[in-house]
Amino acid sequence: MASDGRVSLITGSSRGIGKAIASQFANQGIRVAVNYISNRAAADVVVKLVEDAGSSAVAVQGDVTKRTDVERIFVETSELLGPVEILVNNAGIISDSLLMRMSDEDWDSVIDLDLRSIFLCTREAIRTMVRSRWGRVINIGSVVGLRGNAGQANYAAAKAGMVGFTQSIAKEVGSRNITVNCVAPGYVETDIVEDLPKELKQAIMDRVPIGRFGTPEEIAGMVGFLASDAASYVTGQAIAVDGGLVIS
Ligand code: NDP
Repeated sequence: MASDGRVSLITGSSRGIGKAIASQFANQGIRVAVNYISNRAAADVVVKLVEDAGSSAVAVQGDVTKRTDVERIFVETSELLGPVEILVNNAGIISDSLLMRMSDEDWDSVIDLDLRSIFLCTREAIRTMVRSRWGRVINIGSVVGLRGNAGQANYAAAKAGMVGFTQSIAKEVGSRNITVNCVAPGYVETDIVEDLPKELKQAIMDRVPIGRFGTPEEIAGMVGFLASDAASYVTGQAIAVDGGLVIS
């Protein structure tokens, strides 16, 4: 799945799923802007990972919930690597609580990072993609956005909103050879899942037909496919990569 040195920006790619996507892209010959908010050392490790795989990368600091930061991230990426051709909206957080106890801050912080940032980054990216008549936007959602989850109304609302956003922008820019898709992971072995209580982990695994959590690499494989020329006729989709969780 070589991609001829195309330029990607992966939001929140200093660790977790974003880091695995950076590694996948490097293997496909895609250049990577590694966005992070605070952990420069971790972002530098990802840059080195990409370079060791024979591609190019730069670390770009910025808070993707802030319009001025987003504008700067795109300018820096363009200056250092070239205009963004593949955007992966990956940065996301949870702030779980039952609705009766959910604070304004729980709601706003999750909507800001998991939904507003997608709007800000995609709007910025689309401008140059439309001009060059090629582009890929890949949004990292969640199965929670497809089915809901008690204690995650804020996260479910943001990730479900992302699906509607994906479908709408796919319709807006399809004629310009730009595809827009959403990858919806199930439970993936990252810091978030690591911190869950042991019994809860087992209860979740019992509901997954494949019988285990996914790995960041398994999510990255789907993202790599959507970024490749092999996926040129796939757009407006929300594709679950979840070991069968949504059908169980
Ligand atoms: P992690 O918590 O491991 O990593 C979060 C990343 O986002 C870090 O790189 C962090 O940077 C960065 N970040 C945080 N806030 C901002 C911000 N405001 N602006 C820019 N970057 C920011 O995330 P995961 O790998 O677990 O999740 C990635 C995506 O996958 C998310 O959208 C999540 O909702 C989704 N997902 C994850 C699942 C899972 O099981 N893990 C399941 C389903 C979906 P820094 O290192 O500098 O703090």
